[in-house]
Amino acid sequence: MNRHVRSRTTVYAAGALALLAAATGCTSDAGSGAASAALVPASGSPAGGAAAVPSRSAGPSPTASPTASPTGGGPAAGDAAAWAKWHLAPLPPAPPAPADKPVKLARTGPVPVFSEVKTSDKVVFVTIDDGAEKDPKFVEMLTDLKVPVSMFLTRDIVKDDYGYFKRLQALGNHVHNHTVDHAQLSKVPPEKQKSEICDAQAALTQQYGTPPLLFRPPYGDGANTPALNTAVQQCGPRAVVLWRESMQIHDMQYQAADKKLRAGDIVLAHFRGPKDLKGETMTQMFGELLARIQEQGFAVARLEDYIEAPAA
Ligand SMILES: [Zn+2]
Repeated sequence: MNRHVRSRTTVYAAGALALLAAATGCTSDAGSGAASAALVPASGSPAGGAAAVPSRSAGPSPTASPTASPTGGGPAAGDAAAWAKWHLAPLPPAPPAPADKPVKLARTGPVPVFSEVKTSDKVVFVTIDDGAEKDPKFVEMLTDLKVPVSMFLTRDIVKDDYGYFKRLQALGNHVHNHTVDHAQLSKVPPEKQKSEICDAQAALTQQYGTPPLLFRPPYGDGANTPALNTAVQQCGPRAVVLWRESMQIHDMQYQAADKKLRAGDIVLAHFRGPKDLKGETMTQMFGELLARIQEQGFAVARLEDYIEAPAA
């Protein structure tokens, strides 16, 4: 019903909060103190042979789909054995994608800025930024668990291995724009803002076959400025997407004072590995993220299922 998900006033407030959260949003100093359980795939045990779960690391099977959503539309949750393999409690399956999308994007004009989607579905959306860590185990994890993610990729961080993200794209995950080199956009002139977005848009379109629909500025910086909005319009994305929670190593930073997820929240994580996670791996971090979501009873839905792209 609402064309955009937030009022202008709320958008500005969210932008300020996003900037606060961005102190750790795209840097490497994240982390809370609690020790984590080891999250390694059980089938990787050197004991070998007796693994209860057959390896699916070769990619999604075109035939076996034991957990396909009976209602269609929503992404299927991986089966119980797959969750057990990663030492995780299963998330609830996501509901079917809404027929009437809560976010409707226009083909032209100013782009909306949002950090959550208006929905009563008990779902959150997971977004993963930058692209520095390219851990094959993470492809295996998403293949097993069928958790949908949206990727905001920075061209110069992914260009040494575009193919890694094609494997994640092949699982149904969408690629979006996160600039050429992770510039802080409010600190550069308008023409540089434009090239940061347009050049990344061109490269990502060429590599992934579809023009990115969404844009996220590094650190959330400049999201609500007219200059950035104009640059986004010139380059093709049709919305600026921020976040409500930011995953660190073991826990999330919440913008909400009560530190609880809410329906429709967009969660930020990063492609990061041991160098940036104090020795934790990408799959350990992501397992912790899923555990935090599971504890609060939410499913993970596909962000793009809640967004109506402009008519061609
Ligand atoms: Zn970033």
